[in-house]
Amino acid sequence: MSNPSDPSELIHRHRTVTPSWLATYYAQPIELTHGEGRHVWDSQGNRYLDFFGGILTTMTAHAQPDVAKAVAEQAGRILHNSTLYLSTPMVELAEQIAELSGIPDAKVFFTTSGTEANDAALLLATSFRRSNQVLAMRNSYHGRSFSTIGVTGNSAWSPTSLSALQTLYVHGGIRTRGPFAHLSDAGFIAACAADLEDLLGQVGGNVAALIAEPIQGVGGFTSGPDGLFATFKRVLDRHGILWISDEVQTGWGRTGDHFWGWQAHADAGPPDVLTFAKGIGNGLSMGGVVARAEVMDCLGANSISTFGGSPITTAGALANLRYLLDQDLQGNARRVGAELIGALREAGLPVVREVRGRGLMIGVELVGRDEQPSPAAATSVLEHARELGLLIGKGGLSGNVLRIAPPLSLTAGEAAEGAGLLIEALRRAQADST
Ligand code: PLP
Repeated sequence: MSNPSDPSELIHRHRTVTPSWLATYYAQPIELTHGEGRHVWDSQGNRYLDFFGGILTTMTAHAQPDVAKAVAEQAGRILHNSTLYLSTPMVELAEQIAELSGIPDAKVFFTTSGTEANDAALLLATSFRRSNQVLAMRNSYHGRSFSTIGVTGNSAWSPTSLSALQTLYVHGGIRTRGPFAHLSDAGFIAACAADLEDLLGQVGGNVAALIAEPIQGVGGFTSGPDGLFATFKRVLDRHGILWISDEVQTGWGRTGDHFWGWQAHADAGPPDVLTFAKGIGNGLSMGGVVARAEVMDCLGANSISTFGGSPITTAGALANLRYLLDQDLQGNARRVGAELIGALREAGLPVVREVRGRGLMIGVELVGRDEQPSPAAATSVLEHARELGLLIGKGGLSGNVLRIAPPLSLTAGEAAEGAGLLIEALRRAQADST
């Protein structure tokens, strides 16, 4: 009988039976056993301050008591029923999300992940518009299914160029890169919109939708200026093209200033379709699509989701949402996030080219001594941070951006402690490279 807490034994078994392309950040993967608040523990008894929240899923807190209680109570009543039957938590959650979405006459379809939510959104948009032509942003990430890989512009996450969709990639997701980087914000937006118009003119015909993250997540917590999507929306509206806002990372107050990422571009009103996942379940497998009724109802055929909207996940998500709103965690993300950004900027380390972000969605872009993107520095910071008891993420086109996204309940004290640990990890990584 093998010892389940022997890390080398578990790593060996993991590498034998799981695909080689499954990403893990560390040379020696970490086995997490439990969590509380903003902390997690591994099988060796090490405690970590969690600055990545299980890839932005742990929204309120680890093992959040209200969520755990709601799940346990629901599990004692009925575990599962599929969308063939109704459950009160599913209907209540749909009502609340429809209301919160800002989309008029909204309907909600639940899925079990962000990939599936975007897949459903693409299915709806292409069916509604009777076209398989789709616009997506360069450097984007939308999931791991065949259709969502087909709209993922970040090549590191697109293992195949085959797709059921014909995708056209648009500028605008990265402010500091590409042909328009030297322009003012207003000039950048105008140039991206003109490029979009030009693209549509060249393609002709019918384009179904633009799918875009308001702030690119896997792409390195990067975005165009506020107002970009409002300007895009005016172009899209002229052509009858739907705007799908992928809020898988940016939803539920994560960005502090707004409940949804699209609200930073609010001039043109809400998107036609919004997708969500990650934070709403606080770790439970939950995603979904919100769309105007005429779009949502366009599919003529029968549809079902065996697990989407299950009583367990919707009961847990309802408790999570209630806590998030009651405690004003969006406001907390805004305040604590600003302190964290301030502390990281103040450190003034040469390895850091930029600290950017909103609320508790903070990107730290790293460069080498040659001022070029340094993925090696990012890997080194992650390892040093682990030694110091801090978990963070990384991403970006070159893999050189640290991604910081703790649970939104992060206290000011924890933010200061985490900033100190991260600055020390950055100093150590900097020393490694000299
Ligand atoms: N969309 C965005 C913006 C994401 O960041 C992700 C995952 O990181 C997805 C979609 C896919 O979500 P999931 O991993 O739940 O399938």
